[in-house]
Amino acid sequence: MNLIPLPAFSDNYIWLLHDELRLLAVDPGDGAAVLAWMAQHPGLKLEHIWVTHHHADHTGGLLALVQATGAQVHGPALEKLPVQHLPVSGGQILHWNGWTCEVIDVPGHTAGHVAYWCQAAGQAPVLFCGDTLFSGGCGRLFEGTPAQMLQSLDRLAALPGDTRVCCAHEYTLSNLNFALAVEPGNADLQAYAQRCERLRAELQPTLPVDLSTERAINPFLRSRLPALRSAAQQHTPGATDEVSVFAALRQWKNDFR
Ligand code: ZN
Ligand code: FE
Repeated sequence: MNLIPLPAFSDNYIWLLHDELRLLAVDPGDGAAVLAWMAQHPGLKLEHIWVTHHHADHTGGLLALVQATGAQVHGPALEKLPVQHLPVSGGQILHWNGWTCEVIDVPGHTAGHVAYWCQAAGQAPVLFCGDTLFSGGCGRLFEGTPAQMLQSLDRLAALPGDTRVCCAHEYTLSNLNFALAVEPGNADLQAYAQRCERLRAELQPTLPVDLSTERAINPFLRSRLPALRSAAQQHTPGATDEVSVFAALRQWKNDFR
């Protein structure tokens, strides 16, 4: 089974999972990009499309792909998509081509955002998390509260450490600039940032990334640690409880240049 980040627009990834015959696509914001990839890989049938949330950079290709391939679309029960979709929500199990995938509700970036955590025999698990968890960062809070996002990230962070995290954007380097400002003494973070700088210099994706790495370097998964807490409090002195510390970190990132 192959797992591929297909670049789209300036920094999106459309994730593709396939064997010799069958293809699944996640968050196809650009239908032409998927169809061009399929033309280079003849013999593959696009069977399923899974959508994490309603934003256009994740759904803009749905209509063209459904018309061209007849693929079945699964997406969040609470969100409207440009095509008819089979609604999914937290706790639901999907099966595809030997993979067993659990739907996880992760509100915060959008109100109905879902993630897909997938397992297959003999393979490291795969997490399609859309715009909720990024390497070194997390999504902006467009429709949800800091408390919701913190809880959503807690759910994802509790998955097995060998889970391959498939984020929908290549935001890693700018996220790591912020992470280093928040936690300059984190040696794992420094080493990871150097690794990602090299990958990007070679125009390689930094993703997928192991969840265990994210737990070691991502400030939004580490906001309860004393070092992160005091950094957030220097930026926002009133932040005392865990939700306000997390909110202070998210606001600091919004303002960070
Ligand atoms: Zn989004
Ligand atoms: Fe996005």
